[in-house]
Amino acid sequence: MTQRISHWMDGRKTAGTSGRTAPVYSPATGQASAEVELASGGEVQVAVAVAVAAAKQWRHASLSQRAGVLFAFRQLLHERTDELAAIVTAEHGKVLSDAAGEIARGLENVEFAAGVPALLKGGFSEQVSTGVDVYSIRQPLGVVAGITPFNFPVMVPLWMCAGAIACGNAFILKPSEKDPSASLFLAQMWKDAGLPDGVFSVVQGDKEAVDALLAHPDVAAVSFVGSTPIARYIYETGTAAGKRVQALGGAKNHALVMPDADVDMAADAVVSAAYGSAGERCMALSVAVAVGEVADSLVDAVAARLPKLTIGDGTHPDTDIGPLITAEHRDKVAGYIRAGAAQGATVVVDGRDQDVPAGGFFLGTTLLDHVTPQMSVYTDEIFGPVLCVVRADTYQQGLALINANPYANGTAIFTRDGGAARAFQFDVEVGMVGINVPVPVPVAYYSFGGWKASLFGDSHMYGAEGMSFYTRGKVVTSRWPDPATSAVDLGFPRTR
Ligand code: NAD
Repeated sequence: MTQRISHWMDGRKTAGTSGRTAPVYSPATGQASAEVELASGGEVQVAVAVAVAAAKQWRHASLSQRAGVLFAFRQLLHERTDELAAIVTAEHGKVLSDAAGEIARGLENVEFAAGVPALLKGGFSEQVSTGVDVYSIRQPLGVVAGITPFNFPVMVPLWMCAGAIACGNAFILKPSEKDPSASLFLAQMWKDAGLPDGVFSVVQGDKEAVDALLAHPDVAAVSFVGSTPIARYIYETGTAAGKRVQALGGAKNHALVMPDADVDMAADAVVSAAYGSAGERCMALSVAVAVGEVADSLVDAVAARLPKLTIGDGTHPDTDIGPLITAEHRDKVAGYIRAGAAQGATVVVDGRDQDVPAGGFFLGTTLLDHVTPQMSVYTDEIFGPVLCVVRADTYQQGLALINANPYANGTAIFTRDGGAARAFQFDVEVGMVGINVPVPVPVAYYSFGGWKASLFGDSHMYGAEGMSFYTRGKVVTSRWPDPATSAVDLGFPRTR
């Protein structure tokens, strides 16, 4: 019998009632491995009702009780990393070490959120007026939802839920329907860590579940990570319904390789960041802007590295690159390579020609040179193992190209010139910048987010901005006067 991947409500797996399901694949074999339930609007109503009741209780948990749950969850996540990585690899396809890497980065967010007693400290001003004190507190929102993409089925949910729960909210996760099993593993670990039932729920589903969450008046805030068109839709629909929304979208991240860069180091970095996780990362470097005479040697150095990468089943220890998420996506990526060649790019290495395992959703690595900004391989987020090289004559030309791009998630400069790096950091209009760092994902105590079409909303994810997103501020003005001094005073209160 086909395995059913269910919802998680009120502290247990909950079978779906909608009658709708979607197949979940093993991308390495191309075979369907399970069916995931797709929630109806009615099932979302049930999940929200459970979460509302749980949130009312959970906000009473002391900061040290909440921190205790986060510490216990952190320990379980650490101990069970290998099991969870295997689940990620089975449904996503990325290699096991990469899956363990995303868990490690998610774990950092749990560690950060465990510091909630310090993070939620308010301000206090004594004697703002005679005998009057003022202090600020931050309180949870109630029920908050997270809608997450396929490419990080553990890390992105942890970006959201660790902070949301630490702040005293109930959290409903709507994971990607393409690799939904990790969500249930996280749910069980929250329970095992001592989190009260209903504080963390999982609603499996597609647009129908998302729309029901966006429309529900008891969902106070929505965190979203996914592609730009859906991020824009979530932001517009959620804010129109009166919710607080942070919606992170797609990316087209450029590496600016300066003429003075160490070519081997730059090539290692660019190859790692372009082809790691088969290019299915929002922080993948998908465009290398080669400045001046570095271009030929960079292209040669990247091309020389590609045949050494092993493409195969992510569970094999010698595999470097796993399959893509679905057959449709693999075919779409191959279509971009075809279009790039037709539009005049030089196909230096063609991923369509390579020897890859049969059956799974594999595609080899592709290197396109002489790409121009008009080509679809440049304008669109490909989200596959394809690196485009654009040649620029000067730093200024390269910078202008990056700043003209509608996406602005991440970027990196490769140089040995501190002045050029400092100028780039100052001038580039992108949210996350690497200086000789190919994948500059901020550590948990900074916040993650791009600019322009890579983020809709005012708030980046996790870190201090995450704690602020999941709470609302209250300012209390207090006095304890001697009743004998009391008198009616109809004037507007002034400080004295
Ligand atoms: P996606 O936008 O297709 O799906 C994301 C989520 O939205 C999923 O849970 C999905 O079920 C839901 N969804 C899909 N279509 C919907 C619709 N029409 N209405 C409502 N909900 C819908 O993204 P994906 O393919 O799962 O993930 C890849 C994308 O995510 C890439 O564009 C990548 O750049 C982006 N991403 C961005 C970041 C970031 O931090 N900026 C991080 C990871 C991934």
